[in-house]
Amino acid sequence: MEPKFYKLSGTFSIKGPLFGAALGLVSLFPLSLAYAYLVRYIPFIYLNFMISLGFVALVAYIYFVGENYGKNRNKYTALVGALVMGLVTLYVSWVAFLFVLKHNLNYFELLTNPKMVINIIDNLVTTGWFSIKGGRVSGMLYAIFLGIEALLYITMFIVMWFGSFADNVYCEDCQKWVDRKNLPYFYNPEYANEITTRMLAGDESWIDWLQLVDEPHWLALNVATCKKCKNFHVLNLKEVRMTIVDGENREDENQVLENLIISSQTLEKIHARSNPTPPPFENQD
Ligand SMILES: [Zn+2]
Repeated sequence: MEPKFYKLSGTFSIKGPLFGAALGLVSLFPLSLAYAYLVRYIPFIYLNFMISLGFVALVAYIYFVGENYGKNRNKYTALVGALVMGLVTLYVSWVAFLFVLKHNLNYFELLTNPKMVINIIDNLVTTGWFSIKGGRVSGMLYAIFLGIEALLYITMFIVMWFGSFADNVYCEDCQKWVDRKNLPYFYNPEYANEITTRMLAGDESWIDWLQLVDEPHWLALNVATCKKCKNFHVLNLKEVRMTIVDGENREDENQVLENLIISSQTLEKIHARSNPTPPPFENQD
């Protein structure tokens, strides 16, 4: 039997970018003002930088909550929407910051006059407004600093875009996004080849090669199950290696096989093999 693999349908829904923009904008205005006041009055430049990144991460996250709610399954339009929202976020955060920095400016005038905003930023770069180690940051150094910050804003939206499609699959029958979840079993990684070869041949006997281990190096299964129809399951196989670096646990993951569609019976067999004597009254899901 040929194995079936899940692929995102690519169906475009305008509701995705629309809901994204609606939620994104509603949160952007108050958050950007909060960000501007914090950055203006906290005298620690590194802390300000973290606040700036935290602010844009939050807006990007909220944008994608709306995007997902609108069920857009087209990656490319989602990316375009995210880039536009990233630029809008950058602009609105600049407006908020200039408004807080210079008390004589009108917020709505700034918001609707990009040329004025660019002029003020240009002047600000020449004079600077903060110091590092006693030296005023201005001119080229400040321009580079702002350029890096702007790039990080756009990058944050791209990272959220990537994550939003990597963490979800979509059940077209139920019109629902489905989360991926790790199964709580650790399998012997020596059999990775046996398992993948059989998976790719559509041979269900790969389940027989799942052997539980108790070691810092294992194979893990990750399954997305649609909660509505309970009949759509997408499986990932990955290799995980845990090492201790500077006294902290670090997990390195390596995707071995992605997006294999399995039946409910197959999933039951995986659970039965991995968990031969389930405790009574406990749901295995
Ligand atoms: Zn479903």
